[in-house]
Amino acid sequence: MPEYHTQQRLAQMPRLPLHGSIDLTYRCNNVCRHCWLWLAENAPERADELTFDEIVRIADQARALGCREWAISGGEPMLRPDSSQ
Ligand code: SF4
Repeated sequence: MPEYHTQQRLAQMPRLPLHGSIDLTYRCNNVCRHCWLWLAENAPERADELTFDEIVRIADQARALGCREWAISGGEPMLRPDSSQ
């Protein structure tokens, strides 16, 4: 028989970010009809993207908090100049 938790008991449990999601860029070289991410490859918003080191730092901090699963998406992540690192 499964054990059900009361709201009070749930409030006492550790709050872990088990799942993370990150968009590495909003730029894309495709124009899929269903998608809203149509920033050009050389769009000026490129300057606002996280650096590789910032992404690694965020992932490390999330992992230290308990995060064990990531969804990595975009845009087209391969447009990043550091995509081969
Ligand atoms: S981000 Fe994905 S779905 Fe959107 S335009 Fe690019 S390839 Fe298509």
